[in-house]
Amino acid sequence: MHLEELRYPIDDLRGVGPAAKADLAKLGITRVRDFLLHAPRSYEDRTMVANIGQAIATHAEKRWVNTLATVCSHEHFGNGPRKTLKIVIEDGTGHASLICFNRDFLEHSLSIGKTVLVCGFAEYRFAELQLTAFEVAAPSQEPKFRRILPLYPLAGKLQQGFFRNAMLHALSNYTPGLNDFLPTGLCLKHSFPDRKQALTMLHVPQTMLETDTATKRMVYEELFLLQIQLARATIDRKGPLAFKTGSADEHAIQEGIQSFPKRLSELSRRLIQSLPFALTSGQIAAVMEIYSDFDAPYTMSRLLQGDVGCGKTLVALIAACEAMSRGYQAVIMVPTVLLARQHAQRAATLLEPLGITVAMVAGAMSSSSRSPLHDAIAGGTAQLIIGTHGLFSPAMRYHKLGLVIIDEQHRFGVSQRQALYEKASHPHLLMMSATPIPQTLALTSFGDMDISTVTTMPGGRLPVETHLARMGNEQKVYDWIHKELKKGRQAYFVYPLVAENGEATDAARELKSAESMAESLSRLFPDYKVALIHARLSDEHKEAVMHSFTSGETAILVATSVVEVGVDVPNASCMVVEHAERFGLASLHQLRGRVGRGNVQSFCFFVYTEPLSEDGKERILALKATNDGFALAEKDLAIRGPGDMKGFQQSGFIRLRFAHVIRDLDIMHQARSDAIEILSTDPTLALPEHQELHGLLEIIRRDEDAGTR
Ligand code: ADP
Ligand code: MG
Repeated sequence: MHLEELRYPIDDLRGVGPAAKADLAKLGITRVRDFLLHAPRSYEDRTMVANIGQAIATHAEKRWVNTLATVCSHEHFGNGPRKTLKIVIEDGTGHASLICFNRDFLEHSLSIGKTVLVCGFAEYRFAELQLTAFEVAAPSQEPKFRRILPLYPLAGKLQQGFFRNAMLHALSNYTPGLNDFLPTGLCLKHSFPDRKQALTMLHVPQTMLETDTATKRMVYEELFLLQIQLARATIDRKGPLAFKTGSADEHAIQEGIQSFPKRLSELSRRLIQSLPFALTSGQIAAVMEIYSDFDAPYTMSRLLQGDVGCGKTLVALIAACEAMSRGYQAVIMVPTVLLARQHAQRAATLLEPLGITVAMVAGAMSSSSRSPLHDAIAGGTAQLIIGTHGLFSPAMRYHKLGLVIIDEQHRFGVSQRQALYEKASHPHLLMMSATPIPQTLALTSFGDMDISTVTTMPGGRLPVETHLARMGNEQKVYDWIHKELKKGRQAYFVYPLVAENGEATDAARELKSAESMAESLSRLFPDYKVALIHARLSDEHKEAVMHSFTSGETAILVATSVVEVGVDVPNASCMVVEHAERFGLASLHQLRGRVGRGNVQSFCFFVYTEPLSEDGKERILALKATNDGFALAEKDLAIRGPGDMKGFQQSGFIRLRFAHVIRDLDIMHQARSDAIEILSTDPTLALPEHQELHGLLEIIRRDEDAGTR
């Protein structure tokens, strides 16, 4: 029996009634297996003995006391009708006071002269050692009293005692005969206890060392399970040699760069020749990696990541050319209609002279609206199709879809991506991300994909200069923009809100909005055309505004974060973000990436409102300190810290209870290499020592199909 098979509802467990059941549900515990995997957040080590004298001599705010003491006297202190009981004890090394808030009953149970076991954290106050939270027990209870107690995360009316008791039942009723899925070889290699032992050590530890050992094993097993599933998905896609070829391709890529672009199709070569610039080495390497996937016997599943402005769109277009010259259609899915239009226009300009028909799909297509566009896509006359998620509405029919490209993939929800995976089970898949994926996440959410990283920037670019300004000093920023506009440049002004809204708080009322600032800026810059863009405008309206900005007629574009993704206007060299503290780090970096696309010096101003939170300050200082999107992505994770990790922890294949994707990165690497090693020798997990592992993976898969995980 595997732990994962303990699907009994939690009230199967003795002592769990309806009230406890409801409270446990708040902790995500609905089944017996969840209960056994409920990790203590820490432990109280009552095996550690400390007498009063030692506690007095300790120089810490909280001093641990765990001693056998005699009650000396009872006192009452405080004003008013409710006095507080104070019990003075001594143990031969000194005196201490037990302050008994709302525990008057202790006056009877701790009568003068009685000897008791006492433990708790004391503070030295009013020239005496005082304990306010303490436990007492009769000396005969010593073995039960002096042990290591787990402290569990609680919810509702649940108490620690409930967990400790119920856990004993759960361990004795459900874990005998529990299987271990970790191969013995791995347990030996890492000196891990088996699964059943680990659970016992976790919930009923004999020593603190055991809690450590058990936790390490639980963290590892979780990450190992994750990595083995990712590795198996990779093998399913690429075949048993998946990991044998993997990194050895480096050499092939070097050779590829030498012979580039000879190996590409004629279509791609003509596209490259038509460009007014040369590809960067990072773009070439990415193209070669994609190219070798096309020639491999497996379906591509690749993440193309690179900082804003590194030129991913062009890599995508060349990939599309490779697919099209092999007789397939290619689609590019983007998160906004604005971006779809921009991409479609650029693709048409570049590819229509080469005889390619580009189509654009805006919004969802219904089956009733049979249109020439529909027919062109279904019939195969449209070869490159660009659009939003409507590309995958049920009514869409393709002639021969060979490549799916998802731009700005982070903008799509997990479910949208999932739907796409399903539609795209046969075509090659290329996902592009301008928010660099930190290594930690690359190993989880994208662990079954290949990753191409473009680290080069097109030449001749000057790094964007970033300035910070406090709200109130923004006039200086406006003056600076004025100078740039005079040189013929253009500027973005970005605000967190479209319009003044009814938000009740004072802070919200003082927020500048895009609508009101569009008016103010028109007055401040009377010689320049100011336009407003945000998500609530109609598509036609947005298109007209963007056209006017791209053509240079509009000098100032006032926007919300709609311009965050993809928009590419090289002559726009200034970005002003007001109320910058209201945006996330990744968004601010994306916004900054809208400028610095031409060969003139660009500027970015983050105007922030005081007082800044600690996190807000860190974010803005990090942005000032570096333009490197990879460094910022790591920083972002670090600032957000464990509290904000839930989304990540639960994306990917399993819910992580013990492991923490940042803290346990080393273990994740170890688990990954162990998983790959096992699968390289035994890809189908057919060997006897992998039988349990194989069995468990089957169980997990069935559970996933049934949606019970
Ligand atoms: P991103 O990677 O953020 O999607 P884009 O694909 O929008 O970046 O490219 C940013 C800008 O750089 C575009 O104007 C594009 O035409 C230009 N560009 C792309 N590749 C090169 C290159 N090799 N040399 C010069 N400019 C390039
Ligand atoms: Mg882009």
